[in-house]
Amino acid sequence: MAALQDNSARRVKDAVDILEVIGEHVHLQKAGVRYKGLCPFHSEKTPSFTINRERQFYHCFGCNESGDVLSFMMKYHNLTFPDAVARLAERYGIELEESKLSPEELKKTRERESLFAVNSVAATIFHKYLLENPAAAQARQYLEKRGMSQEMISRFQLGYAPDRWDFLAQALASAGEAEQVAVAAGLLVQKEKGGVYDRFRDRVIFPIFSLNGQVAAFGGRILGDGQPKYLNSPESSVFNKSQTLFGLYQNKSAIREAGRCLVVEGNFDLLSLVAHGLQYVAAPLGTALTAQHVKILKRYAEEAVVVFDGDQAGLKAAMRAVPLFLTEQLDAKIVVLPEEHDPDTFVAAFGKEALEEKVARAMELSEFVFSRLVKEHGLSLAGKNKIVRELQPLIAAIGNRTLQKSLFVSHFSDKLGLKAEDLLGRGEGGIHPVGPSLPAKRRKQGLKLSKQYEKLLEFLLIYPEALPHFLEAGLDELVDNENDSARIILDQLKDLDLIGQGDGAEVLLENLLEEEKVLVARLLIEAPSYAEDMKDLLIDELTTWVRKQAWQNRKSRLLRRISQAQVEGDDVLLMELLEQKKKMDEVSYT
Ligand SMILES: [Zn+2]
Repeated sequence: MAALQDNSARRVKDAVDILEVIGEHVHLQKAGVRYKGLCPFHSEKTPSFTINRERQFYHCFGCNESGDVLSFMMKYHNLTFPDAVARLAERYGIELEESKLSPEELKKTRERESLFAVNSVAATIFHKYLLENPAAAQARQYLEKRGMSQEMISRFQLGYAPDRWDFLAQALASAGEAEQVAVAAGLLVQKEKGGVYDRFRDRVIFPIFSLNGQVAAFGGRILGDGQPKYLNSPESSVFNKSQTLFGLYQNKSAIREAGRCLVVEGNFDLLSLVAHGLQYVAAPLGTALTAQHVKILKRYAEEAVVVFDGDQAGLKAAMRAVPLFLTEQLDAKIVVLPEEHDPDTFVAAFGKEALEEKVARAMELSEFVFSRLVKEHGLSLAGKNKIVRELQPLIAAIGNRTLQKSLFVSHFSDKLGLKAEDLLGRGEGGIHPVGPSLPAKRRKQGLKLSKQYEKLLEFLLIYPEALPHFLEAGLDELVDNENDSARIILDQLKDLDLIGQGDGAEVLLENLLEEEKVLVARLLIEAPSYAEDMKDLLIDELTTWVRKQAWQNRKSRLLRRISQAQVEGDDVLLMELLEQKKKMDEVSYT
């Protein structure tokens, strides 16, 4: 959060209008004093993505994404915070004092820009070579044989790297690109004795795009018999394998539209499905699916369908994926293809409809894992014990997210006819399994607080400086009659000392978890603006309410103690309490 107090970010936020920025990506319509549109972070048919222009804040009532213009840029374009600041500054012509960036940040930003630039030049070189050079005839034939039309080739900017050690090195040099940058991007490899050579040789090239359409890396499939069959760029400051999905950039709107994303393993699997008209698909790059992958997918789809080859590795991969989807609460299903097929060959043999039919009948991923385990070990006591043991790593992988852990454990313990504790093992305190019938999403709908309390909270979010005043009126006592979330939010408000901080509400949001965060985000969106005289009236109204509530709380506590004392026959205490009650009645609140 320190970064938000950074001058650059502040200046950008002050200068741009959230409505204009988001309006470039989302069709917005005025709805009362707010604006609404179809959410760019989840798939929906009726708009629940809402912008409060005055607060420069957005919130989606469907998926609960919320934030300011910078968090929108970060999420929508998959940018880091400094990149989001820089992008908006550039787009809206805001001069940033570069000295405000630390020399290290500046160096990093420049390095990333230069890597993207050299990758983009290389992609063009490979692509042009494939299209035009006589020496690429074999590569063109190969792609044609694999069903890649001209349109597919240009859409994915496929290319070819000829079987030479110095082709790209020379081409980049004549394009004026620095050798060391190309080495840093992994396009060229530094020789120990000096000099460089091309990493990709005799390979069909697949540029790997970042979510905002910059070339982050390359994948290459060997044309001849060499090894390895597939080669990817090494990781760099612009390429992180565990956060990148091949094809997502090109397919993201199709995925959003479908509300689901097929996850396949290979580049050609993906291309083949797209060529057959099935565009809601993405592929991790030669790695198992990671938590970051799932997080990114969740922005586009409500459901992921993993498509596994029909071999043995399938179960292991599926098992590893279960906790990832559980923790992100993204629905996951699985399609298992016949043994001899992968998605590429399957769709080529049976067509798009056959695969779509399989997708429509796809099994829940956790069900699939469970049924495979039951098949393998049986449901005898010994079998159950083995299943419990196999589930342990999955439970551990969920980490300390209590709700997800509870859902997972209760789901499987129910099916095994065991107690949740049996699945959790001993010494794992602090877990309160909930029934499997409780849908995971229910928590997300936020909480019911009394209308008046919401009004007060809303007021405090906008005017945190009024907090001491309300505390003095007895706010602390009143909160105990609301619910736990009210307590959590109030404690945060008190702790944070938000007074005088322009970003108070945002600091608060950063510090809150799921339920409370959603509640606060909703209030921020709904909060009206108050004219100064209205503000004073509202303070009076809310103060009266707080005093009255606090007084009633004290009184009902007292009445409980009185009846307790009567039951216990403690006359001394009873007299004392009745005396207190008399005093309270005398200063009775009206
Ligand atoms: Zn949404």
